[in-house]
Amino acid sequence: MRTVHTFRDARALGSGCVGLVPTMGYLHEGHISLVDAARRECDTVIVSLFVNPLQFAPTEDLASYPRDLERDAEMVEEAGADVLFAPQLEEMYPDKPLTTVAVDLVTEGMEGEIRPGHFDGVATVVAKLFAGIAPDRAYFGRKDAQQLVTVRRMTTDLSFPIVIVGEPIVRESDGLALSSRNTYLDPAERAAARSINRGINAVAEAIIAGERSGTELERIAATPVNDEPGIDLDYATLADQDTASALLDLDRPAFLAVAARVGRTRLLDNVHIDRIDGGWVPDAGIRLDGPSILYREA
Ligand code: AMP
Repeated sequence: MRTVHTFRDARALGSGCVGLVPTMGYLHEGHISLVDAARRECDTVIVSLFVNPLQFAPTEDLASYPRDLERDAEMVEEAGADVLFAPQLEEMYPDKPLTTVAVDLVTEGMEGEIRPGHFDGVATVVAKLFAGIAPDRAYFGRKDAQQLVTVRRMTTDLSFPIVIVGEPIVRESDGLALSSRNTYLDPAERAAARSINRGINAVAEAIIAGERSGTELERIAATPVNDEPGIDLDYATLADQDTASALLDLDRPAFLAVAARVGRTRLLDNVHIDRIDGGWVPDAGIRLDGPSILYREA
């Protein structure tokens, strides 16, 4: 595996079908599942690692976001990627960008409402990665459901000839969706955070049992979080997989997204609901058997 720091070097190493896995680093099995998918489907696998200041508000955790290039390089190599692209700030933004990408409508609700400007930052950096590396396929987690909708729409609107692949959520053994930010949680916060997954599982069960009302599914997701002290729900919303707009009923492919705050940490989770063979099938993701590599140091 080669670690490179410029777009030019990253692009030069791509041959055949090139798969890109964009990340902000401090890798865990969620990221590795994207590398695995790219490895199965592509000739060259490039993992990018860049903590993108454009997608953080001044009040957010840009300065404290966990970073460890050596640790991440080992994991990317172990996962069988060909290239780790780790640009410095000057490579990504040689100057304050005067050109940015804003995706309307799909970014209006949920995270877009709570984090104004966040998705402009995401769309801009992903567009730069697409333009600078020119991959054939790019891999994203269903974990960040509204981000996936935004990236798909941006790719279509800007005619990037890139196939966007969405992969299931990978969870810790207690059900908490893996996130680099889980490293912030103390044991009490961690215990409170589990309520999110209880809600997600209850939604999956209700769908299998035939529940189709958006309000009812949202209530089912919200209840365990609202009942738990030490965690504050931002929203539980049933949304359209194509547009991220809220749905009154489950009548098209959707996701039920939950966002909550535990101490200074915001956590996101969701269950996607896909139409398969005429039925509604919840995809709540995959659980690890044991401890995550998230807690492994270099
Ligand atoms: P991040 O480093 O948090 O920006 O995430 C990089 C990519 O990994 C995004 O496409 C995320 O959606 C994806 N990802 C993050 N956490 C998970 C997870 N638990 N399961 C699956 N994909 C994930």
